[in-house]
Amino acid sequence: MVFNKTLDNLNNYEAGKPIELVVREYGVNASDVIKVASNENPYGCSKRAVEAVRAETLKMNLYPDDSMYELKEALAQKYGVKSHNIIIGSGSDQIIEFSLFAKANPSNKILMAKTTFAMYEIYGKRTGTNILKTTSEGHDLQEFIDIYKANENVAVVFLCLPNNPLGECLGKQEVFEFLEQISPDTLAVIDGAYQEFAAYKDEDKKIDPKELIETFPNTIYLGTFSKAYGLGGMRTGYGVGDVKVISALSKLRSPFNITTLSLKAAIEALKDEEFIKMTVSKNFEQMRRYEEFAYELDLEFIQSYTNFITYKFGAAKNSSDICEKLMRQGIIIRDLKSYGMNAARITIGTKEQNDKILRHLKAVYQG
Ligand SMILES: *Cc1c(COP(=O)(O)O)cnc(C)c1O
Repeated sequence: MVFNKTLDNLNNYEAGKPIELVVREYGVNASDVIKVASNENPYGCSKRAVEAVRAETLKMNLYPDDSMYELKEALAQKYGVKSHNIIIGSGSDQIIEFSLFAKANPSNKILMAKTTFAMYEIYGKRTGTNILKTTSEGHDLQEFIDIYKANENVAVVFLCLPNNPLGECLGKQEVFEFLEQISPDTLAVIDGAYQEFAAYKDEDKKIDPKELIETFPNTIYLGTFSKAYGLGGMRTGYGVGDVKVISALSKLRSPFNITTLSLKAAIEALKDEEFIKMTVSKNFEQMRRYEEFAYELDLEFIQSYTNFITYKFGAAKNSSDICEKLMRQGIIIRDLKSYGMNAARITIGTKEQNDKILRHLKAVYQG
């Protein structure tokens, strides 16, 4: 059977290895596996969300409220915008997909950083658009603007603030100055998957979605419940944008694109700000140990505004080898070889998890 040609160029997203695989292939007990490869919340999620979902399970026969009234209202209130400024996706991944489908095509281009969230490129390729990338590590806005100006018809620009998988974060001021220089017909996607972490660490990195979309109606802000909120398994994310952007993207949304239980979980999770505060403050408290560890072992790392840290290994070490050896101990971290880097990304775990991770990493690194 012949399939569409565009499929030939597509790669699958390389997800963090599942716990089951490590159990199967390395014979580690499931309860001993530590998965710090997908930036999930090591503290679980809000108890309120768990209880609400439990109470909702008998409604699994019912489709969810397709208008998503309550969740949109709650998000609108959180950000001081209107319900019509919000779109809900099956993860913010889906909003990335909609944004590209709405704007990108074979006769235009999209622009992103060299090393950034893989889904921008994966969904971009599906549209047949042309992909432009900066050459520097991290987000170099001067390079962004140079490439932008050298190319006509850049339809979508992606800024990941803070950036996955490196952890660095541009400041609000420089982002706004950049946005002033691009055409109102270019859609700028501001991916705030880790904004809860960045805003806590440094006020200057905080992007206020309302201010963003009112100043630049050609932007869309993406948020997710998968990271700080700890609801990765519920697949819920959102976009905040001008009503024109949201109306366009909403045409691409299939009915009931998140589940009855996901909706409930997200609504309750939003009410539990204590959980977010606890998550974020513990995250940076534990992150310090990873920084100290790096100084101690003379390891290079990137200042992180997220819930993970990226270590870069010298020429004498191979990231794949280190990841493989840790996996045998039941510790799953994320090798960045597929990004062309001799580096690994580690989600900051709980204190107990980090005790074990750092102990094994030291042995593996020095071994
Ligand atoms: C995790 C992540 C997302 C979205 O995750 P969903 O689970 O699909 O909401 C988006 N962008 C970045 C940079 C991420 O790391």
